Amino acid sequence: MPTIVMKFGGTSVADLQRIENAADKVIREIVRGNRCVVVVSAMSGVTNQLVSWVNSLTPDYDAREYDAVVATGEQVTAGLMAIALQKHGIKARSWQGWQAGVISTTAHGRARIQDIEAERLERALAKGEVPVIAGFQGVTAAGRITTLGRGGSDTSAVAFAAALNADRCDIYTDVDGVYTTDPRICKDARKISRISFEEMLEMASVGAKVLQIRSVELAMKRGIKLQVLSSLEDKIGSDLPGTLLVKEEDVLESHLISGVSCSKDEAKITLVGVRDMPGFAASMVKPLADAGINIDMIVQNVTADGNATDMTFTLSSADLHKAVKALEGVADKVMTDDKVAKVSVIGIGMKAHPEVALTAFKAMADANINIMAISTSEIKISMLVSETKADDAVRALHSAFELDKVEKTPQILKVKHKEGR
Ligand code: ADP
Ligand code: ASP
Ligand code: MG
Repeated sequence: MPTIVMKFGGTSVADLQRIENAADKVIREIVRGNRCVVVVSAMSGVTNQLVSWVNSLTPDYDAREYDAVVATGEQVTAGLMAIALQKHGIKARSWQGWQAGVISTTAHGRARIQDIEAERLERALAKGEVPVIAGFQGVTAAGRITTLGRGGSDTSAVAFAAALNADRCDIYTDVDGVYTTDPRICKDARKISRISFEEMLEMASVGAKVLQIRSVELAMKRGIKLQVLSSLEDKIGSDLPGTLLVKEEDVLESHLISGVSCSKDEAKITLVGVRDMPGFAASMVKPLADAGINIDMIVQNVTADGNATDMTFTLSSADLHKAVKALEGVADKVMTDDKVAKVSVIGIGMKAHPEVALTAFKAMADANINIMAISTSEIKISMLVSETKADDAVRALHSAFELDKVEKTPQILKVKHKEGR
């Protein structure tokens, strides 16, 4: 009997009606002859509320207690979903992460799954039960509850699919697939029917929160058949034209640019008047690394007098407070700005096309958007802009690369720039 993991995100379980609709989808997969494992997120808005309660008490919270609070959202949904299924005579039971054997690292707030001890779940499945698992949660070897980072239920779902050797992992969400950019920002965004793991990884890493990056990494590593589907449509599973994640060679359309992503959870820190001498970058990064903080774009200004300079870098806005504390004593003056966003153009095809950068920068110039910092890799260009300009930047880039059109040839060849720029 095929095993399917079905994951429902926050909007898909936002109220009791939606939970009943989701339960209905599970029942229809069971009727089709599938063994179902359900993974749920917290109801829409709940995790944000829990996070803000913790932050309102103190931004210097104990991360273990943050996890104790923030993990509760999923517990409610798992219980409600189990009851909704039981109403229809299904032998459903809720499982917390720790009950389902999700062993994680101790990195509270962003823990990684190390192992899933799935024997108890397997026994439940063998008895014909439908496990409804609280996503996002793990437990350390020492028995403390952890959470897997925002969006972590996607990773829970894929990890269960791997541990149970599932035939498919269906991620039900509030959009009907992965688009060339966030369809809520750009109305011309186009649904991608097949996307390579590599491209999805890049898109997720720069803000396309439709899938948590670790879920994509894990699905790629373990060869999990992963699809993104709409929970709001009537059809289910393999009848729904969502987006399928596939190996690079199985992508149907060859394109230069696969998408545009945007992350508004960014902040920038500038260390003013630091000494321009060997070793400074290391002395800046060390306390941040010790505090477990990742930094991204780094810009060092030109030194006017050969002595002092300014160093700017970006990081996740959730880490801003911790970073400023960690940097105490490193520079005399530290300036922060959390009203910034990172917009990125992603495409495996850009490797051999340096014109992509020109097109991106021109698109921003034409839209009168100032770029504060730039970082590039072989397959992406990221630009830091003011948060108020982020949506305009996404639309400008999406249109400059003609992502609304299905293309077989590199779009770059057709890009026209406004005169006089
Ligand atoms: P869930 O609660 O189901 O996990 P999320 O809010 O985490 O849902 O992710 C779905 C959202 O991701 C969509 O509502 C959409 O706004 C956003 N999104 C960002 N980039 C993309 C993209 N390229 N394709 C589809 N959705 C995207
Ligand atoms: N509820 C958690 C969050 O909002 C996990 C998830 O939705 O995947 O981040
Ligand atoms: Mg999500």
